[in-house]
Amino acid sequence: MTQQFGKFTASELYCPKCKVSQPVRERLLLVLPSGELHEFVCSNCATSLGKRTVTGPAVAAPIGKTPARPAPQRKLLR
Ligand SMILES: [Zn+2]
Repeated sequence: MTQQFGKFTASELYCPKCKVSQPVRERLLLVLPSGELHEFVCSNCATSLGKRTVTGPAVAAPIGKTPARPAPQRKLLR
């Protein structure tokens, strides 16, 4: 396995403004309690091309252990 999953970064994305794939820059948009919101911007024209949330060890853990995901169990696979 050569892929590092935790360190995934998009190196190029299609830019609708440049109409070609452009190298992107990643910048930190804001920090959430659940993680960090990063934004990919075109390195040529600075158009926002996408976002991603990086979840990691929360800086300040909210009180208690909230059951964050009420898992939808509508579809039962069997
Ligand atoms: Zn562009």
